[in-house]
Amino acid sequence: MDAFLAAILEGAPPEDLTAIPLPESYRGAVVRRRDVAMFDGLPSAEKDPRRSLSVAEVEVPEMAPDEALVAVMASSINFNTVWSAIFEPLPTFEFLRRLGREGYWGARHDRDLHVLGSDASGVVIRVGSAVRNWRVGDEVVVHCNYVDDQDPSAHDDSMLAASQRIWGYESNFGGLAELSLVKANQLMPKPAHLSWEEAAVNALTNSTSYRMLISRNGANMRLGDVVLVWGAVGGLGGYALQYVLAAGGVPVGVVSSSRKAELARALGCAAVLDRSERDYRFFAADGKADPGEWRRLGADIRSLVGEDPDIVFEHPGRETFGASVYVAKKGGTVVTCAATSGYEVTYDNRHLWMKLKTIKGSHFANYAEAWAANKLICQGRIQPVLSATFPLEQVGEAAWQVHRNLHEGKIGVRCLAPEDGLGIRDPELRARIGEERITTFRRLGA
Ligand code: NAP
Repeated sequence: MDAFLAAILEGAPPEDLTAIPLPESYRGAVVRRRDVAMFDGLPSAEKDPRRSLSVAEVEVPEMAPDEALVAVMASSINFNTVWSAIFEPLPTFEFLRRLGREGYWGARHDRDLHVLGSDASGVVIRVGSAVRNWRVGDEVVVHCNYVDDQDPSAHDDSMLAASQRIWGYESNFGGLAELSLVKANQLMPKPAHLSWEEAAVNALTNSTSYRMLISRNGANMRLGDVVLVWGAVGGLGGYALQYVLAAGGVPVGVVSSSRKAELARALGCAAVLDRSERDYRFFAADGKADPGEWRRLGADIRSLVGEDPDIVFEHPGRETFGASVYVAKKGGTVVTCAATSGYEVTYDNRHLWMKLKTIKGSHFANYAEAWAANKLICQGRIQPVLSATFPLEQVGEAAWQVHRNLHEGKIGVRCLAPEDGLGIRDPELRARIGEERITTFRRLGA
């Protein structure tokens, strides 16, 4: 891939990129089928991605007519990389095996190495014969909704498609690599004012937060809504907070340290709860939920903003779900996309039905939602939440930090990019938006 990198850094025209022969293999961050039992018997917290995730040479796959090959300049760690690397809740090789049963093109994915990664920024270096809207040389970011557009069930909301998968998690050849194989309908323009690593961290969590809060498929937030955001400076929460503020809502951010509280305030969130300092214990020593603690959280929210949340932005799962259902306003919505602390949740159903609340499931975003969320990044209305970067060789350490909640916002991974700060094509727009706003997480994070 060195020749591609040199050409990209020189700003070579598309014909030069086309003339460079594809290598036989490329470097990618992988987990291995033979390792899936390596953490058996260990508690989740001790399952260490530094042991399971490594960089390997991967054979370049054949490209289908509706696909593109992207030279990946940067990628990011998402929590799904952590799940894949600790083989929870199940090894992702099962997904690859299933995809492998879907004919000739599906069979490419069923390998003993799974190249992970569900975000990327980079340059298109090959397009299949059926690709119409993208050309070699285009600078792009990649969203992770991997869906067959010839599947009729994909044509209302593609997240409801029977064929829907998450690229780099339920498919192979993901973004944590020098090269990635994507469907053309995953491509979006790279924000011109951002560097490769700033551009790489947004698509997955930004689009997810957009759907959860702004899209009519999610909580459909209104002007003035009070929104409780768990993990308010995490990967999802950092965007959620910005959406609530941009859409004229009142965020109440929950975080777990005074430094994170400061970061939430720097983003414009006036009402912040430090859950470590407040020491909520939603479960008693016997493992039973403690409604007294739900009430204490509710009282804390009221004392900050004077009312209950119209929307709860929920993803920690087991440890917070009962509290989330309790504190939502009468008629309010708990919108959930995850269960970091456990997927078997407990809540008191009386609070749900008697107070006419709604629990709304949400998962990533369809192409239109991802495109709309990316447009807001391109316009500088929503900022990347990049706090740190690692080279591809240290992908295990980067995933470990996310696994153990040692990070803020998003961690970027340089794949081909030799250093941070490259790839900014519109410095004037960057100056207009403001360096300080774009780099808030880098400046104030750990
Ligand atoms: P992240 O960057 O680790 O952020 C999550 C935040 O949640 C942390 O910053 C932490 O904030 C908070 N948190 C963690 N454990 C908690 C607990 N027990 N109680 C309260 N808060 C807790 O991860 P992320 O990228 O935002 O992803 C979060 C979850 O969403 C993951 O499980 C991921 O797999 C899932 N996800 C799902 C989708 C989808 O499409 N379905 C998309 C993206 C992510 P504090 O410690 O500061 O409170």
